[in-house]
Amino acid sequence: MKNKVLLVYTGGTIGMVQDERGSLKPFPMDHIYDLLPELKKCPYSIDTYQLDKIIDSSNMTPDFWVDIAEVIEKRYEDYDGFVVLHGTDTMAYTASALSFMFKNLSKPIILTGSQLPMGVLRTDGRENIICALELASCREAFIPEVCLFFENHLYRGNRSTKLSAENFDAFYSFNFPSLAKAGINFSFKPHLFLPKGTKPLEVRKHFDRNIAVLKLFPGITPEVVNAILGAENLHGVVVETFGSGNAPTESWFIEAMENALHRGILVLNVTQCKAGSVVMCQYEASCEMNRIGIIGGRDITLEAAVTKMMYLLGTYPDNLEHVRECLSRPLRGEMTESAC
Ligand code: ASP
Repeated sequence: MKNKVLLVYTGGTIGMVQDERGSLKPFPMDHIYDLLPELKKCPYSIDTYQLDKIIDSSNMTPDFWVDIAEVIEKRYEDYDGFVVLHGTDTMAYTASALSFMFKNLSKPIILTGSQLPMGVLRTDGRENIICALELASCREAFIPEVCLFFENHLYRGNRSTKLSAENFDAFYSFNFPSLAKAGINFSFKPHLFLPKGTKPLEVRKHFDRNIAVLKLFPGITPEVVNAILGAENLHGVVVETFGSGNAPTESWFIEAMENALHRGILVLNVTQCKAGSVVMCQYEASCEMNRIGIIGGRDITLEAAVTKMMYLLGTYPDNLEHVRECLSRPLRGEMTESAC
């Protein structure tokens, strides 16, 4: 029997066309076989599914994550793998969110898209779709993860970041190697794959949107920090710090953070650097944050930090101790295990 893949279309440049002003806008993709007749030659069978509303991924929300997850959940037993066509702008957020939503995953879910629409001669979409489908259909490769495929590389979804608004190699995973590379043949690194889920699949669908990202910069004022930390109904903050997790040591900053923590707001420290890790207390400039109870996010990406916090607060709203504990360790390979 032929292997089977489900191709889920959510929108993004890959399927866009130009409107009368010349701007790119989402367009239904029911003509995929006209755009990509090569698909008829694939040795596996492909079914397609288009979300009710197709979007530029700048409009992505947790409700869409749930829609995507439910399409896959309902058809999970019918396919060997899944490919999600998605806009590049927030693809790394969706890949991270889906990685947390699917517990005990035993099949590949691969997100891909393109920098140029499929209707354009030089499109990168053709290669990206065909490779993603091939990887998702390949029972032998057995990649039981949410991944992101772009320009010849298969990345762990929750380790990837959009790097370029211009280049075809638009994504990268700075803190974790790619899982596979496309050349004449695919070369896989199976020792890096997450273990295959052996228990029944669980799909978690609750996200808490009451979180904020506080990006530090030299000269940031108490007014700005307090405005963010004082937002109504705030439950969590991802604070983007300098270097290996450093922040101002001035008393107004530490007091503002301490007040937020006393109000039950969880604070996760991630670095503004693309590569490397938060190491709490490596410098004096992170010791106070450690002392007052800010959680070190190690080498997690901002995209994974934001979606993990939304997911944990949405899933365990009454168990902040558990949320705090989960934020400090990897759940789906999104951060490196502590050395000690
Ligand atoms: N704005 C587009 C989107 O994210 C960009 C792309 O797909 O490359 O939907």
